[in-house]
Amino acid sequence: ASLFGVSRTTAINAYRHLEQQGMVKTRVGSGTYVAEIFPGTPGQSPGIPWPQLFTPYAQTSFTSTLRELVSNPISSNNISLATGMPDPAFYPVDQLQSLLNDFLHRTDRADFGYIPTEGYTPLRQSLVPYLTKKGINASLENLTVLSGAQQGLYLICKILLSPGDFVVVESPTYLGAIQLFQAAGARLLTLPVSGTFPLSLLEDYLIRYRPKLLYTIPTFHNPTGRLLPENQRKELLQLASRHRMVVLEDDPYSELFYGEPSPPSLKALDPNGGVIYLGTFSKILLPGLRTGFLVAHPSLVNRLAIEKQYNDLHSNNLSQWLVHLLLEEGLLDNHLKFVRREYKKRRDALARAIRRYCGEHLQFDLPEGGFYIWCKLNADVPSSKLLHESIKAGVSFVPGEAFHATPTEGREFRLCFATHPEALLTEGVRRLSKSLDQLSKN
Ligand code: PMP
Repeated sequence: ASLFGVSRTTAINAYRHLEQQGMVKTRVGSGTYVAEIFPGTPGQSPGIPWPQLFTPYAQTSFTSTLRELVSNPISSNNISLATGMPDPAFYPVDQLQSLLNDFLHRTDRADFGYIPTEGYTPLRQSLVPYLTKKGINASLENLTVLSGAQQGLYLICKILLSPGDFVVVESPTYLGAIQLFQAAGARLLTLPVSGTFPLSLLEDYLIRYRPKLLYTIPTFHNPTGRLLPENQRKELLQLASRHRMVVLEDDPYSELFYGEPSPPSLKALDPNGGVIYLGTFSKILLPGLRTGFLVAHPSLVNRLAIEKQYNDLHSNNLSQWLVHLLLEEGLLDNHLKFVRREYKKRRDALARAIRRYCGEHLQFDLPEGGFYIWCKLNADVPSSKLLHESIKAGVSFVPGEAFHATPTEGREFRLCFATHPEALLTEGVRRLSKSLDQLSKN
């Protein structure tokens, strides 16, 4: 297992890293060889050794856990319960089309040009009452539009994190955030998501490591669906404020509640302005709009806007107009009522199917909102093994390990109930149950 004190895994990772950089080539059944440095076509000038030109940052190897896990080809009749996608059938395309027509006829052509980095001013203005309804007190100076919440995460990493900084994350958590924190060279401290919020562990981290920030998804967490109760939100904020810790609240799902409305966001309860709030229209409208926003202290918003300017000058005008009109004309509210009703039916259908077909193999808690059901296998079998079986049976999901800073095999996995109608969800679970039977025979 160990050669000259180097573990086998370290050696394999080093080879993978060299291969990604084009320094070595692996031939199956033959071995790994040093690659030609300038592999040109014979008779032509040598090619540019691209990977060697990458900055040290870009040369750091970032493997995609997901790509590695889903190595089996996925057939076209696969039912994907993997990605966190709204159902395209719900996109309010007719409304968008008529808004767009109206707008194109009445707009000032100057609006087609470059606009302020912080966003299209009418959208920022309509975000203020939208946020007030959510209990968030924002003014234009607290607010910037983003090309999706993902851009906000990226910009925050750029502005606030230096290599070696500590960041506290929930475990599991959103994969896209983990990857960004790791790319920024941050050291991750993890808090388990199950059960009561682990305040004393967080306090321990705060004292020992002085982390730069806590990244949290308090409402209908991705991937577990967990909802942090209001009293625990308040306790968390008190602790954060005592230690002057920044809290980064990522909130794509709070509008998607299927029972009681969600409790106030951390930002709404924030007494000292230490919370950075990220919102997005990706899950409640359509991801392709690439429209999100951030609410924070003006000094952070200003610096962030400069960085955003370096990055994309400003977010797409067309999407910002559309979101502004949907907010202004009250269409978003109607759309939300509709999708809440539909997604609730889907959540219930998926839960029913799991109980009916997989009840003896799986445990889960019914989430009160969001897109996901987080399942746990009763048997001591890694969920990635189930994935390999289930892809053959025509259904896919995301194994829990993809949501951890240090992927370790586990029994959990995430099913998304938003994308498909009830019948397809049920069929997906039926296929999953076949894979479970298969697995228990092996
Ligand atoms: N944060 C979380 C928790 C998410 O689930 C997602 C989307 N899967 C994002 C951020 C990214 O959202 P956006 O499309 O707005 O970039």
